[in-house]
Amino acid sequence: MRLSRSFIPTLKETPAEAQIASHRLMLRAGLVRQVASGIYAWLPAGLRVLDNIATLVREEQAAAGAQEMLMPTLQSADLWRESGRYDAYGPEMLRIRDRHERDLLYAPTNEELITDLARQTIKSYRELPQMLYQIQWKFRDEVRPRFGVMRGREFFMKDGYSFDRDYESAVASYRRMMLSYMRTFQRMGVRAIPMLADTGPIGGELSHEFIVLAPTGESQVFYDSTLEELDYLKSDFSYENHEDLAAFHGLINSYYAATEEKHDEARWEAVPAANRRSGRGIEVGQIFYFGTKYSDKMNFRVAGHDGKTITPEMGSYGIGVSRLVGAIIEASHDEAGIIWPAAVAPFRAAILNLRVGDAGCDRVCEDIYAKFGGAALLDDRDERAGGKFADADLMGHPWQIIVGPRGVAAGTVELKNRATGTREEVSVESALSRVL
Ligand code: ATP
Ligand code: MG
Repeated sequence: MRLSRSFIPTLKETPAEAQIASHRLMLRAGLVRQVASGIYAWLPAGLRVLDNIATLVREEQAAAGAQEMLMPTLQSADLWRESGRYDAYGPEMLRIRDRHERDLLYAPTNEELITDLARQTIKSYRELPQMLYQIQWKFRDEVRPRFGVMRGREFFMKDGYSFDRDYESAVASYRRMMLSYMRTFQRMGVRAIPMLADTGPIGGELSHEFIVLAPTGESQVFYDSTLEELDYLKSDFSYENHEDLAAFHGLINSYYAATEEKHDEARWEAVPAANRRSGRGIEVGQIFYFGTKYSDKMNFRVAGHDGKTITPEMGSYGIGVSRLVGAIIEASHDEAGIIWPAAVAPFRAAILNLRVGDAGCDRVCEDIYAKFGGAALLDDRDERAGGKFADADLMGHPWQIIVGPRGVAAGTVELKNRATGTREEVSVESALSRVL
């Protein structure tokens, strides 16, 4: 993308309405704009981050055997009356009436709709297990929308649902998702700690939240620091093998981690003092095993192996895709701006042309830009170098390739790493081989 023609409205001033760093930086870097309370438009650079996060989620869901689908945001209230949640959900649910006076709602989550689809389709235990997910907008009319996209009213969530024939298989599905979540977050460049959690309005008996540490987080959390060091990408736990999944779950559970609601002083005291970490955290995902809660209420039964019918066991699995954009910034920024982990960055690099109109600088910049095939942002604005440096730091590209007349004469460019701040004079070829 060429910055001179792009819709990336960066701001020099700090917007007064933003209380926390990620909200300030998302507005200043031109990623989002608020449209109404808790409702945001995603501008081109912000959408690229959202898409990158969704792509990582999709790749890891596929690896774990989950199938992507898409459910509507607007749903009939009748389905929610069957489960009893139409009344139970309260004022957080946005209720709508159509021209025929029928009650609809904008889905805050989808246990009812997916259970309805499953009961229409799945007739025998032989068709189980099934693991389905979508990445779709949700609406919750939060009492206090705040912190930008972190607690919005409309937000983008990955929600997944499992159907299994029995408890053992349902627990394997739960563990499979947990492993896939650990790999997903690690690939995004954030450390999310799995913590035993309360089940809340979704219900059920087993639940974990995935928490990114940040001083501005809304939950108080306690955990053993060993959990920060486990490498889930290098580990060779298999999704197919129940023993592997049990070993993975055992490994996680062998280290203490809990939110305030589940905190247990006695177990906490048993954690070696040097490993005890407590602080604030942001919930970026949550998974639930709730057995037959919805399948019972919604009368979902299938043929079992012995001629009797069985009620499928269910779980649900959420990732806050839009909240993650804010959470990653909370975990990775400095005074000057965002520091994007490479896997989610809107652009892999910015190419800064320090003398637009100089034939040599223009040519070198265009050559480099062409090599990136759209993955770089070319700062071709006719502006002072200082403003370009400041904007590139603010936007947080992992690399800056700085092209000035002196370097062009010597056949070099300056390569800056945003995370470490190091700047090196290198040949164009070596800059490209490092960054591309
Ligand atoms: P919270 O406790 O933060 O209100 P929740 O527990 O109600 O969230 P879940 O039903 O577990 O949310 O939804 C799955 C994920 O969706 C959460 O882990 C979170 O990352 C994200 N999420 C939930 N509510 C919001 C919101 N209002 N804005 C942005 N993301 C949200
Ligand atoms: Mg939750």
